[in-house]
Amino acid sequence: MAMAGKVIKCHAAVAWKPNAPLVIEEIEVTPPQKNELRIKVIATGVCHTDLYHLFEGKHKDGFPAVLGHEGAGIVESVGPGVTEFKPGDKVVPLFISQCGECRFCRCPKTNLCERSWSSERYASMSDAESHFTCRGQAILQFMGTSTFSEYTVMNQVAVAKIHEDARLDRVCLLGCGIPTGYGAAINTAQVTPGSVCAVFGLGAVGLAAVMGCKNAGASRIIAVDINEKKFEKAKVFGATEFVNPSAHSKPISQVLHELTNGGVDFSLECVGNVAVMRSALESCVKGWGVSVLVGWTDMEDFSARPIQLISGKTWKGSLFGGYKSKDFVPVLVHDYMSGKIKLDEFVTHSMTLEQVNDAIELMKTGGCIRTVLNISTE
Ligand code: NAD
Ligand code: ZN
Repeated sequence: MAMAGKVIKCHAAVAWKPNAPLVIEEIEVTPPQKNELRIKVIATGVCHTDLYHLFEGKHKDGFPAVLGHEGAGIVESVGPGVTEFKPGDKVVPLFISQCGECRFCRCPKTNLCERSWSSERYASMSDAESHFTCRGQAILQFMGTSTFSEYTVMNQVAVAKIHEDARLDRVCLLGCGIPTGYGAAINTAQVTPGSVCAVFGLGAVGLAAVMGCKNAGASRIIAVDINEKKFEKAKVFGATEFVNPSAHSKPISQVLHELTNGGVDFSLECVGNVAVMRSALESCVKGWGVSVLVGWTDMEDFSARPIQLISGKTWKGSLFGGYKSKDFVPVLVHDYMSGKIKLDEFVTHSMTLEQVNDAIELMKTGGCIRTVLNISTE
């Protein structure tokens, strides 16, 4: 509490511009204002969406920023009006808020929230309001969170309070990748017992989708990736068959149709590539097949022949696995602590904030599933 009400100077990894390494800088973090809390970040995962912003999206209004949106930490201090949180609480910052009051929060069909940064600055992937400065410049909060920093400030509508015994260097993954893939299978696709599923892309998001298909009772889970090194891990999460599209001269959809007597019941695209999105749809069985877009890209249009949908397939998308964030992140923490979902198996590397560029390089070259950066000690 020593710093409550004062500016904190701390370290953060700043993305000054697209396509360049992050720079560890000293930044200034404002004290929390009305309805805000300042969080000491303990651990954060590195997700492909961080890489997307840095290397693929390149939206000019999205820089300079502190990246990172898959974190967990401890409340350092709270601003006026905060009633649900107190210093010392363990929390997960949320890139999708849940204000509980807007028309989207009140509707059970969606987890979108009007109070989210994405309502205003969707294209630049950052909050309009920032709580950071560095070298006299305002620094944006990527996805409203910015967990590649020792401290961050968030509105209480975008923070989940979690179990006091939760292991923060594991449950940080519940800030993005794992609910995203798991919920895409459970909530969005609504995978049914005995069904045949295909998951395209076996990063943490895809592996979590495999875990969701398994927990939903799928009888066959076909894991698809161009990097065969991912297959062994997919088996751990419940995949039953493995296909490398590059090893076939035929289109992957044809390979899957032949393997499944006419197509899979459910397919999940966890790559973020419009051509793969099309293949995932085409891999579904006509009549009832459901394909879910999970991978993130906003740079290109996608396409498919109308007959794909006319013949009875459904094409859907999923953001944060369809989970209403504040309500469900604590439930998923509980599911991890009780053994219903795995998290440890996703973590292949542990590093420090100073090593963030190595972690980014590892993901770029397919050498990791998740790297957890240990930012501060509890
Ligand atoms: P990752 O880079 O760890 O994994 C992607 C995997 O896709 C890799 O294993 C790669 O080898 C594989 N791949 C690449 N091209 C392929 C192809 N043509 N066919 C099959 N596999 C291919 O990434 P991640 O962190 O698991 O994220 C996956 C995607 O999910 C990204 O696009 C990310 O931005 C997105 N995402 C979406 C949401 C959401 O709410 N919808 C949230 C988080 C992440
Ligand atoms: Zn993410």
